[in-house]
Amino acid sequence: MKIAFTTLGCKLNYAETSTYERGFVAAQWEIVPWKEAADVYLVNTCAVTETAEKKSRNLIRRAHRTAPQARIIVTGCYAEIHKQALEQMEGVWKVYGAAEKAQIVPETLQLQAAMVQDHGHPRPCKREGPIEDGRGREAASWTIAACKQESVLPAYSSGERTRSFLKVQDGCDNFCAYCTVPFARGRSRNLPIADLTRQAGEIAAQGIKEIVLTGVNTGDFGRTTGERFLDLLKALNEVEGIERWRISSIEPNLITPEIIDWIASGTRFQPHFHIPLQSGSDVLLRKVGRRYDTALFASRIERIRQAMEGPGKPRVFFGIDVIVGLPGESEELFQETFHFLEERIRPAYLHVFPYSRRPGTRAAEWPDQIPETVKAERVARLEALSDRLHAAFLCENKGVRERVLWESSVRGGKMGGYTGNYIRLEANADPLKFNTLEEVIL
Ligand code: SF4
Repeated sequence: MKIAFTTLGCKLNYAETSTYERGFVAAQWEIVPWKEAADVYLVNTCAVTETAEKKSRNLIRRAHRTAPQARIIVTGCYAEIHKQALEQMEGVWKVYGAAEKAQIVPETLQLQAAMVQDHGHPRPCKREGPIEDGRGREAASWTIAACKQESVLPAYSSGERTRSFLKVQDGCDNFCAYCTVPFARGRSRNLPIADLTRQAGEIAAQGIKEIVLTGVNTGDFGRTTGERFLDLLKALNEVEGIERWRISSIEPNLITPEIIDWIASGTRFQPHFHIPLQSGSDVLLRKVGRRYDTALFASRIERIRQAMEGPGKPRVFFGIDVIVGLPGESEELFQETFHFLEERIRPAYLHVFPYSRRPGTRAAEWPDQIPETVKAERVARLEALSDRLHAAFLCENKGVRERVLWESSVRGGKMGGYTGNYIRLEANADPLKFNTLEEVIL
């Protein structure tokens, strides 16, 4: 049997797709490139923006055009939120919501037997009519089901030889006013530390040197097991064979001084932090329900710098998420964000997102929506700032000693790799150095 995969969205989705792939490979299914004809296609969708939903639908249509007889499996956040609508699409065989992901591999493997009996002629199922939520929107399913789920699908990525994304947490309880994720991925929950250290051991056994911890609200680890995030970090830090650890993203209020001091005390966790700010205006942070203000945010950045930086030491790489054009974001409030980043935080990189009005969220109902043209102009101003800040960050690291982990992919005779503080380097490809750490002067 031939199967092809495509994934949209976050590192969590990639870790889950990679886990499904391992299940099919173990059953001797052949994984073929997305553009090739296959018996089964799996689309791992995203619903974080309207554009992501559109891309998800287009991928389903493309698979059906490539192989009209094939069966299409749809999963991911969009599948959780718009299950019935997706089940109506041509070629779609099954749509798996957030609580059903563990059934994808076993149920699809049974498909093989069924297709043999049908002499290879698939019969996609069809259902009659969407379910209304009484406000003219097709949302009934996701407001209830998703918020109740308890199960956590264990997942880690293994496509790359050098780095792996390990899922340590899923879901979120915060319900920020602009965000659909809690509806798509359910309540905050996690696997036990013992399971995660075992998985990290499995990853190390494949020769992978670096693991990136991923989740929806990673720092909220421990909700369903009563364990602490810091204890997870300490346990993982002891796993043999993993040279470097990174945290893919962590809420500012959850990277506590205790965690910072421990990371800075000579562990394998790297000087690289991805922290969502979203806005530099306390008015907007309060309005959308974020759980910190700019003072707390700045104090955590300063604490990390004090603990991890110093003469001759690499600067810490801060990647900061910002949403522009949140409802009510006047030019004045945007300026607050701009100056907070340019003067106070001075990160190495900004991940800039235009606010996307998501049906079913509180912010979507708010009157003071910002025109798309204004959002686009503000995105451009922050991206220009990000370029300046990144150039300054590279300058500030000149002459500093760091270690780069060389990857095995070669382009134009060059190999690439990241330093601990997330600077991308290139050098003439040398297969002897693939997947090894090398000391360099920046
Ligand atoms: S913390 Fe807020 S923005 Fe992040 S996933 Fe949870 S609800 Fe969404």
